[in-house]
Amino acid sequence: MKKKRVLILWFVLLTTIVGHSQSKPTQAKLKPKLTILKNGFIFDDNFGLKTGSIIIEDNQIIDLLYTNDLSKYPEATIIDITRKFVMPGLIDTHVHLATVPNLTREKSNKYMEDQLSKMIYAGITTVRDMTGNAIILADYKQVSALNQLPAPSIFYAAQFAGPDYFNLVRKHTTEKDTPWQRTITDTTNIKIVVAAAKGAGVSGIKIYNDLSARMIKKIVKEAKKQGLQSWSHAAVFPATPTDVANAKVNSMSHAFDIAYGFSSGKMDHSKKIPAIDTIKMDKLLLLMKANNVILDPTNYLANNNKLFDGMKITKRAHELGVKISTGTDWPYLFEKDNSVPLFKEIKILTDSCGFTNKDVLISATRIGAESIGVQDRGSIAIGKRADLYVINSNPLQNIENLKDGFMTIKSGIIYTKE
Ligand SMILES: [Zn+2]
Repeated sequence: MKKKRVLILWFVLLTTIVGHSQSKPTQAKLKPKLTILKNGFIFDDNFGLKTGSIIIEDNQIIDLLYTNDLSKYPEATIIDITRKFVMPGLIDTHVHLATVPNLTREKSNKYMEDQLSKMIYAGITTVRDMTGNAIILADYKQVSALNQLPAPSIFYAAQFAGPDYFNLVRKHTTEKDTPWQRTITDTTNIKIVVAAAKGAGVSGIKIYNDLSARMIKKIVKEAKKQGLQSWSHAAVFPATPTDVANAKVNSMSHAFDIAYGFSSGKMDHSKKIPAIDTIKMDKLLLLMKANNVILDPTNYLANNNKLFDGMKITKRAHELGVKISTGTDWPYLFEKDNSVPLFKEIKILTDSCGFTNKDVLISATRIGAESIGVQDRGSIAIGKRADLYVINSNPLQNIENLKDGFMTIKSGIIYTKE
């Protein structure tokens, strides 16, 4: 009896579906929007240059043509970029978009939108936010994904730290744990807190402070299991930078903190920074390289705080072949001269850390994407997102030419300064 009813139900369902498709005329599929960036200098995966055209359909690169014949795409909108340079959109791997507390709603929205707009017009098409209010970040992540505002794509983290840290920072507030900012103790159910962070829309767990080597391993393992990245500070005492690298986190932030890992004590920025032990440093950096841990050095922030050792450590890391991303950890609206923090981070890498212009461009694009754990961007190739930065002059010749932007394309949408 029961089986029969199910069969009848299936029959009704099938006739509904089939009948539906037969009685309704098939709709013509909307023609996809095609745009051609014609005749520019295009950077390949390794920042070699080739003259050609990029064919964009909606939000994706669907073809690269190294010929003058564009007859394959007769209906495309053509943008002539002769003598201009096209690179993948820039990636800042360390921002904090939503950390200013107690703003009015109006001010909070304006602060967020001014930052995002400044980024996109500077060629930045993706950012990794290393902790802030996830409700605000989720909202703007979605707004950006829908291209409702001039904004880079946003990926963000949940911050996990031990009680020592949170007791200190919350001394004068009534703040409590949230899924995106969590006190971790020995009795915390890591599976549940990682799942809660995932529910808050994060792409990675930021391993922040006051955690043991054993606990970091546990968090990394669980994050991976649930499809999330692990983004750690270099110094998370009691765990040392070596413990962090051993746990195979995806990236480690703040090169200047690595020096503290070679002394026995805790990290205290108010005290004299321990001297770098070069043998221990090389050992750590080679471990990072072997475990494919990306260094997010944040030297602009470090230099602004007179922590100049960060540059030495970054330079050596680069020499030894550690992958390095470009994160600023510096607010985009704080610059008195309205300059762009990412350009300053990039300049430090070329001027003081031994990077060639080509090296730093790879760091600011391909390695940036890798450190976020996304494969759909970071280089110009068929099938990748149309996240591009078109520049008037060649950044390989002079890295300052990054400031000479012509247009940014994010997810196929074009942004040009007046
Ligand atoms: Zn930070």
